[in-house]
Amino acid sequence: TLSDRLADTFKNLRGKGRLSEADIDATAREIRIALLEADVALPVVKEFVGAVKERARSEEVSGALNPAQQIIKIVHEELVTILGGETRRLRYAKSGPTVIMLAGLQGAGKTTLAAKLARWLKDQDRTPMLVAADLQRPNAVQQLQVNGERVGVPVFAPEPGNGAGDPVEVARASIEEAKRKLHDVVIIDTAGRLGVDETLMQQAADIRDAVQPDEVLFVVDAMIGQDAVTTAQAFLDGVGYDGVVLTKLDGDARGGAALSIRSITGKPVMFASSGEKMTDFDLFHPDRMASRILDMGDMLTLIEQAEKAFDSAESLKAAEKLATKGGFTLEDFLQQMMQIRKLGSMTKIMGMLPGMGQFRDQLENFDEREIDRIQAIIQSMTPAERDNPKIIDGSRRARIAAGAGRQVSDVNQLVDRFFEARKMMEQMARGGGVPGMPGMPG
Ligand code: GDP
Ligand code: MG
Repeated sequence: TLSDRLADTFKNLRGKGRLSEADIDATAREIRIALLEADVALPVVKEFVGAVKERARSEEVSGALNPAQQIIKIVHEELVTILGGETRRLRYAKSGPTVIMLAGLQGAGKTTLAAKLARWLKDQDRTPMLVAADLQRPNAVQQLQVNGERVGVPVFAPEPGNGAGDPVEVARASIEEAKRKLHDVVIIDTAGRLGVDETLMQQAADIRDAVQPDEVLFVVDAMIGQDAVTTAQAFLDGVGYDGVVLTKLDGDARGGAALSIRSITGKPVMFASSGEKMTDFDLFHPDRMASRILDMGDMLTLIEQAEKAFDSAESLKAAEKLATKGGFTLEDFLQQMMQIRKLGSMTKIMGMLPGMGQFRDQLENFDEREIDRIQAIIQSMTPAERDNPKIIDGSRRARIAAGAGRQVSDVNQLVDRFFEARKMMEQMARGGGVPGMPGMPG
């Protein structure tokens, strides 16, 4: 797998610093192979690998992850970004029925998808109607009717004397019917084509012009791999569309088509279809697809765990320092305050410490300006004073107060609080529990 190969590449790399050019090049080769194996189109692979190299060059080697894990994390994040970050939602019409038209090759899964989408919309209290505008294949209308029945959604089908034979007329008539019967979504199933066929492409374009859909969705079989890009481009030129639906994701395709189509057409993948059952359908999730393309869901879980473990190792180090009598200095106190400032939220940092969740309410009222005052006072102290606050006598207090532009009583209060906080922390570190929060300003 990619993770094993990357781990081999970085066998000799340890510690801090940046990745070397040689390491980055070796990494780029592995990522390239992994993406090609997932059926991502070559130009897309090139561009993507270039972006990842760029980022790898500028990033420090993390303390939490080994270089292989770190690269995988970068690759995963970049993949999620390109695949669209958040899923795009359907755009509903402001008035009248929302018209969704499906386009795609024969066998892509349009008719199946039409019914799945209708069911999904029904679950959201919509009142969809299906429209059989595929008059090409002999059983196409009947297939949609069977599927419509399975999900309990009515199907508008051509009847003799009712636009029969002309898919454009059927589509046009269906909108009128939807208005009459108060359906709020109309899903138009169209004829597929085996290859890119000019006549059928024109028919789809004519249906589009006749009904002015709110969304044209291009439906594509994830199993067709590299061909997905040519097909996607042909439909973009011939019919145009707003979003993409990937089908047959229950197969063993790694999903490179998603990345290729998204990169080359710029259109978002909106839904994913993954089986023959009507419930095998969901919004498209870029993060899941990224893991699938990399074929390493487990690795990503490991990475998450490694980062968490690293964070707790750091807190453990801080705790050890506290456990040593007098080990915690005003400098540490200041550093902690700065850390809080950096995180921007008192609640957040305290929430990370075990046992601190119970103080959340108090912390939410914490005054950030208090940190400014504490910071000013500690910064007016000499390093020796910060290191050993016991030496801060009356004349030192007066000097510090003047330097910080505060009252001597403010300095007194801070120093007192510091000692109280240290005592409490030492007790906690030795396992004495949490006696209260005397160290907290405010
Ligand atoms: P259309 O020609 O685009 O309308 O495609 P169909 O909806 O008729 O689907 C073609 C075939 O693919 C049918 O046998 C479907 O049952 C099957 N199919 C559609 N979607 C999926 C899917 O997500 N997974 C699997 N395994 N099969 C699917
Ligand atoms: Mg069909």
